[in-house]
Amino acid sequence: MVRARQSQTQTDDHQKMVRARQSQTQTDSTALVLQTEQPTPLSVIPPIVSSYNDKIRPLLDAVDKLRDLKVTEEGIQLPTIVVVGDQSSGKSSVLESLAGISLPRGQGICTRVPLIMKLQHHSNPEPELSLMYGDRVQHTDESKISEDIVNATNHIAGGGKGISNTPLTLLVKKTGVPDLTMVDLPGITRVPVHGQPENIYDQIKDMIMEYIVPNESIILNVLSATVDFTTCESIRMSQSVDKHGERTLAVVTKADKAPEGLLEKVTADDVNIGLGYVCVRNRIGDETYEEARAISDQLFQTHPLLSKIDKSMVGIPVLAQKLVHIQATSIGRNLPEIVKKINDKLGSCLSELNSMPKCLSSVAEAMTEFMQIIGFSKESLKKILVRGEFEEYKDEKRMHCTARLVEMLDEYSNELHKCGQSELNGENFLMEEIMILEEAKGIKLPNFVPRNAFLFILQGKVDKIKYMPTEFVERVWTYIEEVVISVLMKQSENYYQLHLSVRRAGHNLMAKMKERSINWMREIVEMEQLTDYTCNPDYVSEWNRLLSGQEAFIKAVLSDEKQPSTIVVEGMGEVQVGHLRQYPNILSQAFDLKMRMIAYWKVVLRRLVDCMALHLQLSVANLVNKEMEKEIISEVMGPNYGGGTGIERMLEESPCVALKREKLIKSIKKLKDSKEVVSNIMDGIFA
Ligand code: GDP
Ligand code: MG
Repeated sequence: MVRARQSQTQTDDHQKMVRARQSQTQTDSTALVLQTEQPTPLSVIPPIVSSYNDKIRPLLDAVDKLRDLKVTEEGIQLPTIVVVGDQSSGKSSVLESLAGISLPRGQGICTRVPLIMKLQHHSNPEPELSLMYGDRVQHTDESKISEDIVNATNHIAGGGKGISNTPLTLLVKKTGVPDLTMVDLPGITRVPVHGQPENIYDQIKDMIMEYIVPNESIILNVLSATVDFTTCESIRMSQSVDKHGERTLAVVTKADKAPEGLLEKVTADDVNIGLGYVCVRNRIGDETYEEARAISDQLFQTHPLLSKIDKSMVGIPVLAQKLVHIQATSIGRNLPEIVKKINDKLGSCLSELNSMPKCLSSVAEAMTEFMQIIGFSKESLKKILVRGEFEEYKDEKRMHCTARLVEMLDEYSNELHKCGQSELNGENFLMEEIMILEEAKGIKLPNFVPRNAFLFILQGKVDKIKYMPTEFVERVWTYIEEVVISVLMKQSENYYQLHLSVRRAGHNLMAKMKERSINWMREIVEMEQLTDYTCNPDYVSEWNRLLSGQEAFIKAVLSDEKQPSTIVVEGMGEVQVGHLRQYPNILSQAFDLKMRMIAYWKVVLRRLVDCMALHLQLSVANLVNKEMEKEIISEVMGPNYGGGTGIERMLEESPCVALKREKLIKSIKKLKDSKEVVSNIMDGIFA
């Protein structure tokens, strides 16, 4: 019950709306020169909407000019009346009726390209008709127009049954026509006819969508009275972009063929047509326009059912007047935004063009640009790699190189220190030393620690870590390479050829630098392996400190078999000693040897880290200050190019840059022209 009452209220509201709309149109039409009562020959009907013309014409002309300039290609939508409808719903017939000319009409798909129809009232009794497509302008007349449209369509979309997006413009200057610009689109068809591509439905749908999606478009939905509106494809499409029909107007054709229930259909408004319905009866067969108009007027005045439809909802003149009114409102509403969009777009195109690389025209110019690129790259790299100034790459942590390098170095140092630490406190404490001392025995005083034993242990330790420095060097250079290449690429991105050679030079150079560093690191490691030396007093003091626990240690190991078998040793924590009791004689030497090694190993590791740091700093400085420039210049100036040096090749622009520049220049020209068009019209309005 509640639901029923609700829907009743809705229908009431709705009918009120419809009535309001009808009376609105009535007031409008009385204000205008509208003569629908007496059938009058078209040629003597005064311009349907003459009182509007003076104001609308300049606006419409401006919009038409913008359309001719193809400003929509720049993403600026224009207020456009778009004619949509299912196939054979009578779209072309409606346009014919409005224009008073013959368009190709009939079964199957006739309209295969968007037909932009510009109607202009002029006072010269001689009509002027012309067709425009591509760069062509073709004058024609009423007897040939239909044929010429067919030919032009064939020219654009081919002789078959395919469709094309390229529009065809038809200008009709004629006494009495309403000033209107409309786009006729191919009718929607579900089933391809013989010779049509399989996906014809999707093609047509895409084309229609392109035209009706923009909010600026007014949808003129052509519906045949003979069908159920709710099943029309064109209704489904227009509703998908304009749910409440706020910018949709319906023309119901073929009123003569299905007068029964038509009044109910258009008042019930089951399909949400916000801008209202107009029922028409178009010209059929060989009727002249005058005859057709007379028959139509007669029909809506005398037919028992059709005459009941309000006069504000029937006939071509009413349709014309409504369209002109809607068009004027839409243009008025949209123009300020269009002006703004043109200005914005022009601004953005200009700044984009300015930020594009200069088009180089001489070797001298290219040379200057090249030197600048090298200069900028050098400066950039100096900042991030050497001086730690990274404002250029605020948010790119990876490019904050000094910090990243220190982190890497710390990690390297930690790895070095960790390696071999675990063996210190194991169950085999001192066993390695004891074994080596046993084998290094000689005929000599017993309390000297033999140097060869020390070296032997040292070599073993170095062997274990010697992969680390080289691995680290590789890692660091891979990182630096990444940074250098990315800076070089960024600086040279505008010059395609240069971009390539700079990248090549960058990779070559980095490979060289990496190799050099690896060799150098190998040498350092070899040096550590060859001999034991340091002048660092820390070594001696550390050894002394560690050795101070020797006496207590030996005592503890040898004193009593029943003692616990773990002991705390200075600098090493708890160690197992049970196994040492069988080596009483060699224990003190082994302990000494161990402590020497511990003290010395610290020195070795520190040296490996320090050397690495200094070496990297020097290499990076060399790279940035000298090597890079040298490498790039020899790569770019070198003769190893098919046609001339890299500098000469710099003059050749990458095709995509050239294309982009060309496109921008074209857009700018178009937008400037558009700006001119709208500023004239705005001046006119304010004046
Ligand atoms: P389009 O495919 O939507 O462009 O439809 P057309 O304008 O080509 O019309 C299709 C057919 O319907 C043609 O044969 C027209 O003569 C016919 N037709 C169009 N409007 C009317 C009308 O108001 N009354 C009658 N009886 N026939 C019409
Ligand atoms: Mg058609």
